Amino acid sequence: MKVLVIGKGILGSSIYHLLKERGHEVSVVESGFRKFPPTLIHSLLLVGKDVELSILSKEFYVKHNIPLKSFTSYTLGKVSNEVVNKWLSLGLNVEEKYVEWLRDKAIIGYGTDSLVQIRKLIDSVPKISGNVSVEVNDNKLRVTLDNNDVTSRYDIFILTAGAWNTLSINGLRLPLKSYYCWSWLTLNRNSLLDKVFIYDYELGYYSRPFMGIGLPLSIVGDGDVIECSPFDKKIGDKKAVEKAESRVGKLFPIYRGEGYCEGTPDMRPIYGEITERLYFAGGLDGYGAEIGPGIANLLVKYILEGEKDSDYYWRRFNGVTDFKIGKEPHEL
Ligand SMILES: Cc1cc2nc3c(=O)[nH]c(=O)nc-3n(C[C@H](O)[C@H](O)[C@H](O)COP(=O)(O)OP(=O)(O)OC[C@H]3O[C@@H](n4cnc5c(N)ncnc54)[C@H](O)[C@@H]3O)c2cc1C
Repeated sequence: MKVLVIGKGILGSSIYHLLKERGHEVSVVESGFRKFPPTLIHSLLLVGKDVELSILSKEFYVKHNIPLKSFTSYTLGKVSNEVVNKWLSLGLNVEEKYVEWLRDKAIIGYGTDSLVQIRKLIDSVPKISGNVSVEVNDNKLRVTLDNNDVTSRYDIFILTAGAWNTLSINGLRLPLKSYYCWSWLTLNRNSLLDKVFIYDYELGYYSRPFMGIGLPLSIVGDGDVIECSPFDKKIGDKKAVEKAESRVGKLFPIYRGEGYCEGTPDMRPIYGEITERLYFAGGLDGYGAEIGPGIANLLVKYILEGEKDSDYYWRRFNGVTDFKIGKEPHEL
């Protein structure tokens, strides 16, 4: 099968590998709208079926030689017994303990949270540079690459344009909305923060290592979002830094890392078939590195075997496309 994947982000790159190793001829087009940082968070401490997707994603990274470096994580605040029991039943190494330096009880995760070198995944995929536009009129498909009609050149098309999904498709509304999100690189007096993850559900922020080598630097965010087009310029506030300070002491915000993501009405991902020959996946909000390759796997299974997972299939919203975007669930 000749496949054109639109967008060389986390989903597009994962789909490229999964289809290629099954013998398909895959091309990936990238517009250059998005730049990726070297590392992103990968956590196994998610809820529901997301945990399995996250495990699948980790297996994908290992198989494709995308390096992951794991660090101890501390989850503070109420986590239900049901969630913890699921983690334990899947063999995740977690225990609840009082943590002196956090002055609170926490669920400590060993080997459950990593920084994944996501740029290595993106760089592992060859690309065609260009901008794709998809049109669906009365179920009739037209795909253009830099204004050239390429509809008959490929057997199928897969739209994975992230926050640009809804702008890349005309004639149809999907249950997706784009938004701006941000986090702060902070300078601190506690180099331990560059070697741990903190998910503080009590105060409402997270903290991740910057380089993971014990520098006095860490990255903090709180999952706050501003709904907007990925071409709108926004400026994120410093509330996450203030929340983190009341737990870990003085932090000096020195750089705002920012970008655009997209969410669905329940802030969980979707995938599926839009019309004949056109498939898509998206809505990965702030945890695409955690579950992206897992969702790519579901989509590829659907395309090749017709197997559908209704928990993530896009029709679960029964046609709702107008909704208000929620806060990023971040881990839980
Ligand atoms: C600041 C920031 C920090 C984040 N931190 C984390 C983290 O630590 N852990 C985590 O799991 N997730 C994190 N995320 C979220 C994660 O990046 C996303 O969930 C994920 O990248 C979404 O994957 P995707 O493949 O759907 O889209 P993307 O990875 O965004 O890829 C879409 C690609 O499509 C391209 N494109 C768009 N339109 C077109 C077009 N018309 N034609 C051709 N190409 C097109 C874009 O340029 C882009 O490269 C973060 C996001 C941001 C912005």
